[in-house]
Amino acid sequence: MLILINADILVTMDAERREIPRGALVADGPAVQWVGATDALPAHYRARIDDGSAEVLDMRGHVVLPGLVNTHHHMYQSLTRAVPDAQDAELFGWLTQLYMLWSHLTPEMIAVSTRTAMAELMLSGCTTTSDHLYLYPNGARLDDAIAAAAQMGMRFHAARGSMSVGRSEGGLPPDLLVEREDAILRDSQRLIEQYHDASRHAMLRVVLAPCSPFSVSRDLMRESAAMARHYGVSLHTHLAENDNDVAYSRERFGMTPAQYAEDLGWVGHDVWHAHCVKLDDDGIALFARTGTGVAHCPCSNMRLASGIAPIRAMRGAGVPVGLGVDGSASNDGAHLLGEARQAMLLQRVGHGPAAMSAREALEIATLGGARVLNRDDIGALAPGMSADFVAFDMSAVGFAGAGHDPVAALVFCTPANVSASVINGRVVVREGQLLTADLPAVLTRHRDLARQLYEAA
Ligand SMILES: [Zn+2]
Repeated sequence: MLILINADILVTMDAERREIPRGALVADGPAVQWVGATDALPAHYRARIDDGSAEVLDMRGHVVLPGLVNTHHHMYQSLTRAVPDAQDAELFGWLTQLYMLWSHLTPEMIAVSTRTAMAELMLSGCTTTSDHLYLYPNGARLDDAIAAAAQMGMRFHAARGSMSVGRSEGGLPPDLLVEREDAILRDSQRLIEQYHDASRHAMLRVVLAPCSPFSVSRDLMRESAAMARHYGVSLHTHLAENDNDVAYSRERFGMTPAQYAEDLGWVGHDVWHAHCVKLDDDGIALFARTGTGVAHCPCSNMRLASGIAPIRAMRGAGVPVGLGVDGSASNDGAHLLGEARQAMLLQRVGHGPAAMSAREALEIATLGGARVLNRDDIGALAPGMSADFVAFDMSAVGFAGAGHDPVAALVFCTPANVSASVINGRVVVREGQLLTADLPAVLTRHRDLARQLYEAA
């Protein structure tokens, strides 16, 4: 049993959005048992503190939040940050620069970059993440990322990405990076049957995720949707990322990206699309009507100058919206609390200072992400929910003078790292230190592999 006490504020994200002063929380195994004020902690839990039979986290001086949820990433890209030739390009040019580099990825590179990316996410407040891995050169497999997630102790939605339409057939990726569609579908089925856990508090789910309209066929999109629905797994892809992406859809398919998604059966509460920067009004209405989710990636959208996603309009219409840091080659920083801050700031740039509050940004980062991943067991702290929570030390210099509203300060001030993180009832970060990996050793290997990858290309 794990008992958290004395949090300055415990943000629940429950139905009443309660923020509990001097908050306490009791977790037993993977689930939260009790949430309330420390003074109101029931006697039988207090007895467990007194007799030493519960693990106690005294969080005075801290704000505690439900663990943040990251809905879009390409973790292997942590090996290719700030690549000089890809620093100043828009999406298609950026991809074309990087594909050749990525063609030299190895299974070890997938494993080590996934652990590195997860460490960065966990330290920035994330407890559940998806990863969209869509290229498998040199024997790489999604299993490499799945094993890394288990080592790190992170709740994981592993998205089996794919590319099947190479340049010779009018797609964007080079032919040597695409797979045969029958092989993609076979491997997708294998992964679902081997790994997918549909149960409450599942630590691992499998997602089917053909990469994008410009790198796979209609057939693969349709067959992936049929397989996903047969097994009850979610679907994920990139959609309407920028103007060129929309132009490709109109020229090749004669449809807007939203029309194309609907035509393929790629709408519903079990589908989420990354970016949707250029989703039009009809698309927003379609997504709202069908419960189709959006992974909003503000830093990547700014980095590649894709535009300002209409998140205010989407939220107003009822579209489920979560946050994504996106791959580390188009954000270069994977700080999820920082991403919530950018989401708030970017909506304000586009739509005025009332377009998004700090608390709405936190809601998108928690409940929003949970809904996008089609889960009702994460994103809030209440009895029966998964015991995923994070604590931020408000005595840090970055929060000096922000005691008037510590919850809002988490988003307004410089993004902080967590001092504690608990995932599925297990403490994975304590006093700012990751407990599930020898981080300096992982980073040393990651540095060597990044150099090796760059030199190979
Ligand atoms: Zn992406």
